Amino acid sequence: MSRRRRIYEGKAKIIYEGPEPGTLVQFFKDDATAFNAQKHEVVDGKGVLNNRICEYIFQRLNGIGIPTHFIRRLNMREQLIKEVEIVPLEVVVRNIAAGSLCKRLGVEEGTVLPRSIIEFYYKNDELGDPLVSEEHITAFGWATPPEIDDMMALAIRINDFLSGLFMGVGIQLVDFKIECGRLYENEMMRIVLADEISPDSCRLWDVKTKEKMDKDRFREDLGGMLENYREVAKRLGIMNENEPARTGGPVLVKSD
Ligand code: UDP
Repeated sequence: MSRRRRIYEGKAKIIYEGPEPGTLVQFFKDDATAFNAQKHEVVDGKGVLNNRICEYIFQRLNGIGIPTHFIRRLNMREQLIKEVEIVPLEVVVRNIAAGSLCKRLGVEEGTVLPRSIIEFYYKNDELGDPLVSEEHITAFGWATPPEIDDMMALAIRINDFLSGLFMGVGIQLVDFKIECGRLYENEMMRIVLADEISPDSCRLWDVKTKEKMDKDRFREDLGGMLENYREVAKRLGIMNENEPARTGGPVLVKSD
């Protein structure tokens, strides 16, 4: 057995070299972080749930012709993905006011926005991922104007599809964050959805109770993070009601 080469380790995921050229393995950790990693906890089983939820969402998106980096799930915590060049931007789509939008603009949380709003943040931990405009993005060369158009079109299509998907199971998609990558195939390059979509990167509210079912449970110390993630998975029909979010690998049984 040889040790796999670790390419990158982030706050919630590790990227390993894949089994063949052009592929990578994405590993979901149990770590929960917020406020630029100032708050950190290990939530046993979160990685397993996010791997499953992300697999389900990316497969559904692939199924309706939205290109993603996802190839297939490998095991409880890992998925095989296509290698892409990550665009250093976080693309946020908002349907209802929450989080930083409320703080920045003084809008009351829960206000339905007149239309969906797309924002770009420059991925840079040292700077705390600042909000940037298209002018900054093109001036500093983080993405070209056609790439910005592609990312916005992708974000809108994903928002339309996911809003419907979640609404169907009694969940409101308040906002979410995506990351995009450049996929090079032969002479062609295209922008695809990369990274993850999970309750870590979305705001999800129960339609009836308005209860938060996402990472705000951790950010705001509400408790019940894992139970809520499991409920999201259950409603999407990807996890059995009684199926535990198994955390480790197989348990060794002693024979003495
Ligand atoms: N988000 C994310 N990663 C980040 C920042 C934001 O996944 O580094 C998600 C967040 O979960 C929410 C949306 O993007 O669904 C909008 O987040 P917001 O700008 O309100 O920032 P926050 O309140 O998370 O600081």
